[in-house]
Amino acid sequence: MIFQQLFDPVSSTYTYLLARRYGGEAVIIDPVIEHVGSYVALLERLDLKLIKAIDTHVHADHVTGLGRLRDITKCVTVMGERSGADVVSMRVREDEKIDVDGIELRTIFTPGHTDDSYSFVGADRVFTGDALLIGGTGRTDFQNGDPFAAYDSLFNKLLKLPAETLVFPAHDYHGNTASTIGYEAVKNPRLQVDSAEAYAEIMNNLNLPDPKMMDVAVPANLVVGHSLNQFVRPGEELDIEQYRKLCSQGDVTVIDLREEDERARDGWIANSLHIPYGSLDSQLSPSGMLRRIASDQQGQMMLYCAHGERSALALDTMRNAGFKDVKHLKGGLAAWVSSGGDVKHSA
Ligand code: FE
Repeated sequence: MIFQQLFDPVSSTYTYLLARRYGGEAVIIDPVIEHVGSYVALLERLDLKLIKAIDTHVHADHVTGLGRLRDITKCVTVMGERSGADVVSMRVREDEKIDVDGIELRTIFTPGHTDDSYSFVGADRVFTGDALLIGGTGRTDFQNGDPFAAYDSLFNKLLKLPAETLVFPAHDYHGNTASTIGYEAVKNPRLQVDSAEAYAEIMNNLNLPDPKMMDVAVPANLVVGHSLNQFVRPGEELDIEQYRKLCSQGDVTVIDLREEDERARDGWIANSLHIPYGSLDSQLSPSGMLRRIASDQQGQMMLYCAHGERSALALDTMRNAGFKDVKHLKGGLAAWVSSGGDVKHSA
């Protein structure tokens, strides 16, 4: 496995790059915007294709690299479903799997530091964000933090992982790089408490100053989607009303770009074809299904995904590959559902 632990000295943030093999697909966790250029160079050196970029939570001390990485690599952005960020491609819930080229990460909802904090568990390690740090824990005094929720996340979720599980946090201020669940359970001073009340007592009396970047970082991290506009030309983006009108005129092929798990969880728009975003390159090859649809049919193609990120990126890729008359649904299935649109589920 390829595993790189990268460090931002300004915010003391750790960013992680994982891939199964050189020449394969990669996932990055908690990227920092200032280092996006160096991540891209690293991906190139290791001959990796970035497939997914994950943030463990909305960060207050640095601006996320999620949007910029997506704009450059067309990767899928991932956060937990509780995230307040505007457009994140995939929103994961408790106990779901993110699979990148055989690297499996399971989500655990670990609120407390913020109300949108998730941890990601791999085969032998856990990426804890700020829920659990080495010799510390994430503060709980802003962004809807809650020391009682943090206690529950720590004691009933993270510390229940096998003792030998490696801990990789989103920050370290003392030069530590990794720990284990077993070591933290015994040695982490914040975890030597016998009740949630005792933990809250510690956390409510830390009296920490706000992070320097907070007023810049939090608002910036909530608008990950704003630069998606660059991928869509006038007339290519349809709102729900325009979409319904187009469908009623017939001759439109609707394509669902989400993954199988998302379809099973959230359903799909009736009569839509399933072509996962991750298979786009092969579908665009001369023998690919998208090519065949385009040559068989006169009508338009209409792309949708969960929130309108993958469809905007795919639209741009398809236009560049010579496809004409491709549209995408603004806001994706989420917008469709909130407008009262029906979804199909497998029987
Ligand atoms: Fe944080």
